[in-house]
Amino acid sequence: MMRPRGVRGFFSLSRLLGGHATPVQSPAAKYRVAIIGGGSAGVSVASQLMKKLPKSLHSEIAIIEPSDKHFYQPYWTMVGGLGLDKEKSVLPMSKVIPTGVSWVKEGCATFEPDSNSISLKGGGKVEYDVLIVTAGLQQNFGLVPGLMDTIGKNGVSSIYSYEYSSKVWENIEATKQGKAIFTNPGTAVNCGGAPQKIAYLADCAWRQKGVREKIEIDFCTATPGIFACPTYRAALEKIMAEKSITPHVKTNLVEVDGPGKVAIFEKEGGERVKKEFDFLHVTPPMSAPDFIKNSPLANSIGFVDVDKETCQHTQFANVFSLGDCSSLPTSKTYSAISSQAPVVVHNVMAMLDSKPQNATAAYDGYTACPVLVGGNKLMLAEFNGYTMDAMPTFAPPLDQAKPNTLFYIMKRWIFEQVYWHFMPVGMWYGKRMFFEPPVKHKVVPTAATSSA
Ligand SMILES: Cc1cc2nc3c(=O)[nH]c(=O)nc-3n(C[C@H](O)[C@H](O)[C@H](O)COP(=O)(O)OP(=O)(O)OC[C@H]3O[C@@H](n4cnc5c(N)ncnc54)[C@H](O)[C@@H]3O)c2cc1C
Repeated sequence: MMRPRGVRGFFSLSRLLGGHATPVQSPAAKYRVAIIGGGSAGVSVASQLMKKLPKSLHSEIAIIEPSDKHFYQPYWTMVGGLGLDKEKSVLPMSKVIPTGVSWVKEGCATFEPDSNSISLKGGGKVEYDVLIVTAGLQQNFGLVPGLMDTIGKNGVSSIYSYEYSSKVWENIEATKQGKAIFTNPGTAVNCGGAPQKIAYLADCAWRQKGVREKIEIDFCTATPGIFACPTYRAALEKIMAEKSITPHVKTNLVEVDGPGKVAIFEKEGGERVKKEFDFLHVTPPMSAPDFIKNSPLANSIGFVDVDKETCQHTQFANVFSLGDCSSLPTSKTYSAISSQAPVVVHNVMAMLDSKPQNATAAYDGYTACPVLVGGNKLMLAEFNGYTMDAMPTFAPPLDQAKPNTLFYIMKRWIFEQVYWHFMPVGMWYGKRMFFEPPVKHKVVPTAATSSA
């Protein structure tokens, strides 16, 4: 038998630590911890919790997850913009859910936090001591009239779907001239930079084919600027200008006529503008999933209402949330999740130890967005989503606002391997890499500090 060698060998050995989970035959009446969703956040938190709990308690962690498949969504940008194989963005859920936890292969239907229970779509009920909600975002393609009828056809595609991500590359290849439009809605989206990353990659592909001169590119965003963090926004505005991509801010896609090849936008003040297109890349409006929106856990806009530092629910102390479905007001990325997970694990452990007063670990708002800009270069935008200050990992002279090839290599080949091999075994802490971050505590104002 061949022995694995080098980097590839190291990765395949490390993956042996990962799981081969099988769903439970029928769920137990109660678990110590119930995690809703086995995506990036659910699996990160489960695998890190397992490292803190004795083995005898691992089966007391339930992951409630109906899907057979686990997606590494950041890959979809490279499927659409570099023509990579979308099959590489997916693994069977059984290989990602850690062995030893109880996988309840059903959807959660409703939350009953007053009785510490949830109802399953199949009709059962599960009680818990602690609940962690990690059900991701819902892509609402149907909210833009005409979009559902035309997505995947008529030059319309999106990297915000496993299914249509490969269509983006097909459309890039098929477009030789005309008008290309890339959209960004005004709602929360996963990875705020991805709607423009795909524009840069398309620009690059069209330049390589020698057709760029014949294609006009517009980036239409409902937001007031093209990127949230000012340090990187300024650099990205320059890049957009250099690439002759025209930004249109406060310009929201509201309707698509696929066969007529017309997209309708609403500008600030309600004015409607029709734009013809040959190529249309749509980032759909997104929201928390409906079953969360309609639950007692939701805030006024539908996300799980948690403290922005402790990730603990504002009303139900034994409920936590992180990742895309949480109300944490930072950019919704896996990078952010890798900083949120250890915080949630610390605070959940405090609850399980019956020391709720110790559930004070605090998340600082860290997030990151690796912006592919074409030409095998990438800007590694790391910032605090709460203060919008840049939080670069690398010291000068390396300037993270300047795209470079080293960062591109990390995104193109390394991040994906790290995700599949180390995230499911609780060994990846994002910015801190393999090292568990020290706990920072929430500062609770005392009578003295609040009156000062
Ligand atoms: C195109 C694209 C590019 C991206 N690029 C980057 C990037 O470069 N860097 C980065 O850090 N992040 C990036 N992201 C964002 C990142 O992928 C997400 O932030 C991350 O996957 C969110 O994890 P999550 O666990 O919150 O949600 P998900 O990973 O979406 O998981 C949610 C899980 O909940 C399950 N679920 C849903 N409903 C129910 C229910 N009723 N009951 C039980 N389970 C349910 C789903 O089946 C799913 O498995 C990108 C995302 C996209 C789409």
